[in-house]
Amino acid sequence: MRIGHGYDVHKLVDGRKLILGGVDVPFEKGLLGHSDADVLIHAVIDSLLGAAALGNIGQHFPDDCKKFKDINSLILLENVYHILSKEGFTPINIDSTIICQKPKLSPFLPQMAENIRRTLCMPENTVCVKAKTEEGLGFTGHSEGVAAHAVVLIRQCGHKFGTRLFG
Ligand SMILES: [Zn+2]
Repeated sequence: MRIGHGYDVHKLVDGRKLILGGVDVPFEKGLLGHSDADVLIHAVIDSLLGAAALGNIGQHFPDDCKKFKDINSLILLENVYHILSKEGFTPINIDSTIICQKPKLSPFLPQMAENIRRTLCMPENTVCVKAKTEEGLGFTGHSEGVAAHAVVLIRQCGHKFGTRLFG
């Protein structure tokens, strides 16, 4: 078993969609970024890559690459699933928190968790997405940006890991 942590922040601006966990959340502002700027999915991706010691999102999907312009971050997550699978890693569970003053996210959280779970081929009840306001404090509290944290457990199967641990 290995643990990973991911953190991401994007700026809230006019004229962009607010995409969180693959859900198009109705709001007057959206997140700025090269991709769809899905801050939650980016935190999840970094937690998975971190747990596997395979670098970070910027190394795998550079933000100066045209291929990733406005891309649906769930597609990036699917790519990360395949990168980990090749090394024999399977995600066990994910816990995550979005820090966002506005809008109210609770109606959308189950769909976000489901999008992540399905993309990573995980069993039911293994992905949790929570949301917190920041009591009006700081950049998240002033709705200047949205932040997200994610923690993941992954398991590596196969001979290599067994030998290293117990051999
Ligand atoms: Zn990001």
